[in-house]
Amino acid sequence: MSGETVPTDDLVQPFQVESSHLRGRLVRMGPALDAILTRHDYPAAVATQLGELVVLTATIATMLKFDGILTLQTRTDGPIKLLVADYVAATRSVRGYAQYDSERLAALAQSGASLGRLLGTGHLAFTIDQGPDTERYQGIVEVVGTSLVDAVHHYFRQSEQIETGIRVAVARDGETGPWRGGAVMIQRLPEQDRGYQDEETRDDQFRHVMSLIATCRNDELTSATLTPAALLFRLFHEEGVRVFAPGTILDGCRCSEERVLSILASLPPEDRGDLEVDGKIEVRCEFCARLYRIAPERVTAEATAF
Ligand SMILES: [Zn+2]
Repeated sequence: MSGETVPTDDLVQPFQVESSHLRGRLVRMGPALDAILTRHDYPAAVATQLGELVVLTATIATMLKFDGILTLQTRTDGPIKLLVADYVAATRSVRGYAQYDSERLAALAQSGASLGRLLGTGHLAFTIDQGPDTERYQGIVEVVGTSLVDAVHHYFRQSEQIETGIRVAVARDGETGPWRGGAVMIQRLPEQDRGYQDEETRDDQFRHVMSLIATCRNDELTSATLTPAALLFRLFHEEGVRVFAPGTILDGCRCSEERVLSILASLPPEDRGDLEVDGKIEVRCEFCARLYRIAPERVTAEATAF
């Protein structure tokens, strides 16, 4: 036995639906998601969308099994202009931030328009970075006044030709309690299709499992009390479901003073001057909102060391 404790929240739970051999992931996020969203203190509609992207990124990244960094980023023309989240496989950590237009957001809230209009039209980019000696992969899909989860579906169907079932939910626990999120994802991989049954049976089984996923309620996905295993059993008890060892998901940022210093050193001196407040150069990390205050002499020394 390893000394690692079994996580009960902020986790990914791999599973297999026994009748169809379909593999999936159930993600639950509690304190880590609350820390990310509370730190940014965005309006609830923005926090919900960013929360969904963070949960989706963690879900997809742990489904894909790779060693690098997965980034999901939207750029759209709605009140929420940009959403970005990334997941680092090595540290199992996720982070994210949003950019939005508060006037347009307020106007939309007053008009009572649909949630799809929050993002508007644009695109969602998937980027996988596996390190300096490898080629970066990027896939892009359109976002057309739809939800993030629709865009993710669209991406897997169009770019990867992998049939995917995915549900995501983010909400506060109670009216004003901590943020929680959850997702369930199943993919039909071509190699899993081989050797079991004929294609028609496989199609039927996949559709049936998709219909079961569709019955999963938002409050079940985000629940703090219903365990992942209990939720999976509730969904798939007739099919049989096997759960594997869960993994942790952490709230974490990759920013550091060293990194900020090297970015500042690469800027023209006049641009650095614009960032000076009370004799220090101030930079706030967009992802984690941490404020760095660095003496200008240190930046000058770093810049001349190049
Ligand atoms: Zn940071």
